[in-house]
Amino acid sequence: MKKEQLKKYAELLVKKGVNLQKKQILVVSASINARPLVVEIVKAAYKAGAADVEIAWSDDEISKIAYKKKTATALSVVPEWEITRREYFIDKKIAYLGIISGDPEAFKDISAKKLSAARRARNKAFAQFREYTSSNKIRWCICGYPDKEWAKKVFPDLNKNDAVKKLWDHIAKTVRLDADDPVEEWEKHQRELQRRCDFLNSAKIKSFHYENGLGTNFDITMPKGYIFCGGAEKGALDGVWFTANMPTEEIFSCPDKSGANGKLVSSMPLCRNGQIIKDFWLEFKEGRIVDFGAKEGYENLKSIIETDEGSHYLGEIALVAHDSVISKLNTLFFETLYDENASCHFAIGDCYPTCVEGGADMTEEQLAERGLNNSLEHVDFMVGTKDLQITATTDEGKQITIFKDGGWAI
Ligand code: ZN
Ligand code: ZN
Repeated sequence: MKKEQLKKYAELLVKKGVNLQKKQILVVSASINARPLVVEIVKAAYKAGAADVEIAWSDDEISKIAYKKKTATALSVVPEWEITRREYFIDKKIAYLGIISGDPEAFKDISAKKLSAARRARNKAFAQFREYTSSNKIRWCICGYPDKEWAKKVFPDLNKNDAVKKLWDHIAKTVRLDADDPVEEWEKHQRELQRRCDFLNSAKIKSFHYENGLGTNFDITMPKGYIFCGGAEKGALDGVWFTANMPTEEIFSCPDKSGANGKLVSSMPLCRNGQIIKDFWLEFKEGRIVDFGAKEGYENLKSIIETDEGSHYLGEIALVAHDSVISKLNTLFFETLYDENASCHFAIGDCYPTCVEGGADMTEEQLAERGLNNSLEHVDFMVGTKDLQITATTDEGKQITIFKDGGWAI
């Protein structure tokens, strides 16, 4: 990839992604593979007036050795300093930028039990930091960097260099880097997403009905005071706008946790914990997952659902047109950040408290009273297809077609 484009990307992430403010600390979490991008981000951050830039490096190869050599119990130990470090981040009101890269199936050979033990322990230990990001008290942004391992997975027929080049081209398109002024292009895109949010937020929707040829036949109710968000988010503590996911094509909210009934059938594979779950379905009754199945990755899916009580319920409802920039690339990225933006989806587990009026200031109990779900897990899975129909029923019983043939009808 060209240095110029890398620089443009880094600047977009710092300005439009986390929207770093003068004298703020930027924390970047990245794989060592993403170093070329990290270098440009560090430059862009200081240019924007950063007080400091701290990098939390990771390395899949090293992690894999640890997964193999350590027991599940040993993997459940989270060092005290890692917790303290996140407390420091909260205290210093940092901005957080996470970069995704590496083989999506890096941990394919590791037992689901070990992976879930490590994941659960970390989710629990870092619960406060996660609460800060999910309620937008910390401005955050997740983005991708195309390295060889990931590119070969997405384009197995190309040689490594061509695969990286193609994945980079794809990523550049999804984040609108090909525009003369990507920042301005994002503003336009975000306004359009906001228009649809405004429509849904004023429509007083009581429930949605989903139906398609794959076998999805599903109803979900919305809590009182739901808010659909999309495109840009507002920092809960400082009111500064940021973009939590780059790319993003979705508009999303929280459903009423006890209001899900019927069957959802996955329309795309889901890559989670370095493993793939394929052709799966979930059956709901009064919000709870009462049955599920998968042609591939059943154990992984089971371990996600069985994380805690909340991971038996839904925490996110998201709408994405079947003809979004990302869907049109017709590529499976094996990475939720991209794949979720190609398709309507839901998430098992935790909700975003900001998706209900006054939610950012509510306690867990108050959120639960409003019907919002709480869990250590949050896993998006895709259900959108080109024949998906979504109909809304309003509080007054009026029916509105929201999606027709996989695309927006509003
Ligand atoms: Zn989502
Ligand atoms: Zn999600």
